[in-house]
Amino acid sequence: MPKETTLSWTYSPAPESKDQTFLKERYDLFINGKFTKPESKKYFHSFNPADETPLAQVARASEKDVDAAVKSAASAYNKVWSKLEGKERGKYLFRIARMIQERAKELAVLESMDSGKPIRESRDFDVPAAANHFFYYAGWADKLEYAFPNRKVESLGVVGQIIPWNFPLLMAAWKIAPALATGNTVVLKPAESTSLSALKLAEIIKDCDLPPGVVNIITGFGDTGEYLVKHPLVKKIAFTGSTEIGKHIQKLCAGTDKKLSLELGGKAAHIILEDASINEAIEGIINGIFFNQGEVCCAGSRLLVQENKAEEVITKLKARIEKLIVGDPLDKNTDIGAINSKMQFDKIQNYIGIAKQEGLEVHQSSCTLPAKGFYVRPTLLLNAAQTNRVVQEEIFGPVLTLQTFRSIEEAIELANNIPYGLSAGIWSSKGSRIFNLSSKLKAGVIWANSYNKFDPSSPFGGYKESGFGREGGLHGLRSYVNLK
Ligand code: ADP
Repeated sequence: MPKETTLSWTYSPAPESKDQTFLKERYDLFINGKFTKPESKKYFHSFNPADETPLAQVARASEKDVDAAVKSAASAYNKVWSKLEGKERGKYLFRIARMIQERAKELAVLESMDSGKPIRESRDFDVPAAANHFFYYAGWADKLEYAFPNRKVESLGVVGQIIPWNFPLLMAAWKIAPALATGNTVVLKPAESTSLSALKLAEIIKDCDLPPGVVNIITGFGDTGEYLVKHPLVKKIAFTGSTEIGKHIQKLCAGTDKKLSLELGGKAAHIILEDASINEAIEGIINGIFFNQGEVCCAGSRLLVQENKAEEVITKLKARIEKLIVGDPLDKNTDIGAINSKMQFDKIQNYIGIAKQEGLEVHQSSCTLPAKGFYVRPTLLLNAAQTNRVVQEEIFGPVLTLQTFRSIEEAIELANNIPYGLSAGIWSSKGSRIFNLSSKLKAGVIWANSYNKFDPSSPFGGYKESGFGREGGLHGLRSYVNLK
């Protein structure tokens, strides 16, 4: 047998140029097909979390601005969009998808600058997946009668959509594409720290000659989102974000006729059974929690390993973590970029502190971090127990807990015994075991021998405190229509 060698390279920096994206100094609200100054004249800065420099000013929408956006969406719905044939709506969606593809490089560089995620991720996943969502739903626009056979399909009217900062452009596409395909008009509010790619999408939408008011993009903080939720002309709210705000929005919608879908937090378990291919599993685990700084609601943040494989898994995980490259998000070699904001950075550090207090063994890679910006070393928390806060609560950072189990029943118990139920991963070479486990896990999405695989045709959504409603696929159309 050849001796196992540890090959190690150091990579020269290979950053993408910032010049590939053009940024205006100031971004206004996109209302009724035009960029419009906020009524309050208030703006806030969007920062680059990689070096803490301001990128651009973004308008802060007041209640009056939100009202103007909703009214423009209502007027566009009544006068144009609800009267347009599905075939014609589909052409617009197709055009948006093509334009995203044409401007892919610019969008990817901007996304990495504004969010801190590695360019490899925004270039190879976020931007192509955003285009694919528009392509996919363009295909459904004139086939709704086949999506819901023997039913009369009715659009809802104006839908309000509120998105978080971890997949800014992709989340906008997830929300806007099915809403337009089903004949609704949209008011979208991006997250305050990552509004720029949605505003670029507004430019694309304008260039595509989408009728004015069909898509409106309003920027601001939680109060802007709340005005949108409360607006009486809004027929549906689609929200992705924290469980806390999701519950708050649920209360605001209670007693109204608004439809609601919530995609909230997660605390996914990765289960490695003794018959798994360990090397493959290690790559899947690394991809599932570290490659997007763990800032993914479906991140595989809890590792459950069958006891007799724990030693091997820990040794290999530690070695792989040591090789991860943390740094400049625009560098093509970077595995882990910058944490999106100071607030999130502090939250992650706080949880690492809690893990220490709870007596867990904290293992981090020894890499050096850039002097400026919000960076966290990939972190493995060993000897975790089910009652630990770091096991029960969503950290949203590159932090992985590790627990062991003896029997499959114990693995199921550990995986399910948390408030969330968004996703899970199973690693095993036996199909029957995978089917058995997946039928017992309370998670909306389960990957087997892979992780974080997305396709516009697959539905996504959670159980329990991870929310309700599905996005993506045929299921994603359902929450944007009334069926008769
Ligand atoms: P995260 O933890 O992912 O930042 P949040 O739930 O805080 O998630 O934010 C997700 C989105 O919800 C953001 O666009 C944010 O501005 C918006 N938001 C925050 N508070 C409210 C609120 N009270 N009503 C409506 N939207 C809100």
